[in-house]
Amino acid sequence: RLVLKFGGTSVGSIEKIQKVANIIKKRHEEGNEIIVIVSAMFGATNDLIKKSNSISKNFDSKELDVLLSSGEQVSSSLLSGAVIDLGIKARSWMGWQIPILTNNNYTSSQILKIETSNILKFISEGGIPIIAGFQGISLEDRITTLGRGGSDLSAVTVAKFFETDSCEIYTDVEGILTTDPAIHKKAKKINKISYEEMLEMASLGAKVMQPISVQDSMTHDVPVHVRSAFSEKAGTIITSQSEIDYTKVVTGIAYSKNDAKVTLVGVVDKPGIAAAIFEPFGKNNINIDMVIQTAASDGKKTDVTFTVKREDLLKTLKLFEKNKQYLNYQKIIHDDKVSKVSIIGAGMVANPGVVYRMFSALGTEQINIL
Ligand code: ADP
Ligand code: ASP
Ligand code: MG
Repeated sequence: RLVLKFGGTSVGSIEKIQKVANIIKKRHEEGNEIIVIVSAMFGATNDLIKKSNSISKNFDSKELDVLLSSGEQVSSSLLSGAVIDLGIKARSWMGWQIPILTNNNYTSSQILKIETSNILKFISEGGIPIIAGFQGISLEDRITTLGRGGSDLSAVTVAKFFETDSCEIYTDVEGILTTDPAIHKKAKKINKISYEEMLEMASLGAKVMQPISVQDSMTHDVPVHVRSAFSEKAGTIITSQSEIDYTKVVTGIAYSKNDAKVTLVGVVDKPGIAAAIFEPFGKNNINIDMVIQTAASDGKKTDVTFTVKREDLLKTLKLFEKNKQYLNYQKIIHDDKVSKVSIIGAGMVANPGVVYRMFSALGTEQINIL
């Protein structure tokens, strides 16, 4: 029993949808029970977000989820139609029809439970369910979505609830590569990567797999195979660490280009201050990424620097403005044009000299390190 997940790039046009239908047919004819998860057609979700932004910058989050989930309704019906046209029994399922039950965190919900009975019955009758990824239904019966790239999470969670043998993520690249091939042509395919390393790659910017989906596959030991929808070649297997080769020092390089940096200058150096600074962030749904505190050379004052997503910078500055009277610092400075480059590799613990090589590579390219 397999989960086959097709990303937006794999169903970006009618021809591509027909190609995907043929992949499904082939895997079905090999004797597998198949559950398909599909993303919206390439660009569809971004277009819908643009539309909502042109109505309001503060578009209601519950209505946003209704809007954004429509992309997957289109692709799942088109793909089901294409599979049926090849003479195979198939049908589309929206999240609410299954149902895929989530909490009420609109726009980035967590899946609580997936009902399996109807889909299992359909499979036992020889059918192929085509599930709309990225969506579910909340505890108050409203449509939810799982955050950008969330079809990966739908796929891994379906694999868990249906106890499938494997979860195959079909995309537009040949697997997980040493870095984003869109940035560097010399990027090479990694045949096997540990859940831990993949989780780091994903969290540090490699968008080929959504980070929470990697975390869930690790927690529930779901084997994942990331591969190309446009070639038959094997891709990358994400697997547990015991199967990994530790002689390789660096597995991959990830980056994010949409970060912003904030520095609080002259913060009093005593216990409890950092907690007070960061307390309001959770409540306001702002994720802090890196935090650096300089040594208080005079023993009294220090600088605290942290990064957030660029889109959260304004909200962050407003938060400090609002809480000014509780926080003790001299001034605040910020930079909204910073990038983060990360090297990932389980082998680094046993191999000295990696930091030097990374810094000298950046130095050679005249890139200043913040
Ligand atoms: P899908 O539509 O299949 O969900 P995504 O656009 O979400 O596809 O993810 C695939 C893209 O991820 C690739 O086209 C590639 O540019 C990007 N990417 C970033 N880092 C990596 C990496 N280390 N390996 C492979 N792809 C990567
Ligand atoms: N269509 C959604 C998005 O673009 C989910 C996905 O593609 O995984 O974020
Ligand atoms: Mg994706």
